[in-house]
Amino acid sequence: MPKKYRILIVDDERSNRKLLSELLSEEFDVVLAKNGSQVFQLLNGEQVIDLVLLDIMLPDMDGYEIIKRMKNNDNQKDIPVIFITVLDSAENEEKAFQLGAVDFITKPFHPSIVKLRVKNQINLIEQKQMLEEMAGIDGLTGINNRRSFDTIYQKEWQKILRYKDPLSLIMIDVDFFKNYNDFYGHGAGDAVLKEIAKAIKNQLNRPEDMVARYGGEEFVVVLPRTEKNGAMQKAEKIRKAVESLAITHEKSDCADVVTISLGGVTHEKEDGNPEAFLKQSDEMLYKAKSEGRNRVIWR
Ligand SMILES: [Mg+2]
Repeated sequence: MPKKYRILIVDDERSNRKLLSELLSEEFDVVLAKNGSQVFQLLNGEQVIDLVLLDIMLPDMDGYEIIKRMKNNDNQKDIPVIFITVLDSAENEEKAFQLGAVDFITKPFHPSIVKLRVKNQINLIEQKQMLEEMAGIDGLTGINNRRSFDTIYQKEWQKILRYKDPLSLIMIDVDFFKNYNDFYGHGAGDAVLKEIAKAIKNQLNRPEDMVARYGGEEFVVVLPRTEKNGAMQKAEKIRKAVESLAITHEKSDCADVVTISLGGVTHEKEDGNPEAFLKQSDEMLYKAKSEGRNRVIWR
C-alpha cells in the first residue's frame, strides 16, 4: 500500500476546515488546526506532518508568523507550506513566497484545483525522496542510507577476501528510543537521531570508515582494515561521544541522558560470509542490550 501523506489544514473558519478536509481526506490523512498555537502543538507532536495548508488571518498569530517560526526550526523548515487566503493582493502573495511558501491559493477556491495543487506538492516530496534514496543518502540524518551501506559493505567484503585484511563492523541502537519519542514527540526524536549521526561521524577519521542509518534508530559502522582492539576502542569512543551529548532522557532506564548500545565483530579469518557476519554483530548488539545497555559488546 502506498504511504498516506498527512496534511495539516489551518483555518479559523470551521466551514473552510470542513470543506478542505472533505476534499482531501479521501487521499490523505488530514489533521486540523484553528490557530497558531494548535499548529505548533501538532508540529511538535507525535504525528509526522508532510504538508501544511495555511490560512493567513488567524486569531492568535498570522500565517506569516507561523511560516517564519517553522523556517527557524530544523525539524519543520522542510515541510512545504501552501497559503490559502482571502488576501489576494500581489504584495501578500509575494510576501508568502519570500517567506518560503511553495504555493499560494486565494479564496474562494475551486476544490478541484486545490486538490491538484496539493498533489503537485506531494509529487515533489516523493521525487525528492527518490533522489535521496538513489544518491544513497538518508533524508533525515544526511548520512548513508541502508541501500548505500549494502553496496559499500559488499565491496569491502570482496576487498578483505582478496587482500586478507581484517574488517570490523559495529551495530548501534539508541537505548529506550521509543520511550523518548513517546515522551518528547517525534520532532525531538528526529533531532536526537541527527545529533547521534553527527556524533558517530565525528569519530570516524579515515575516508574509508563509514556510518549508515540501518533502520529507524539503528546505525551501522564499517571499519575496513581495522583489528579487533582498534575497533573496540573506536566503539567505546562512539559510545562516550553520544553520552556526552548530554541530551536529557527522563524515560530511559539505564541513564539520565540519551545513550546507545553497540555490538561489534571483527573478521580476521578467511571463512564466513557477509550476511552471517552482519548477523553476528546484531547478536552482540542484542547482548549489549540484555546486559544493561549503554555499553559495547564484542565477539
Ligand atoms: Mg482566517
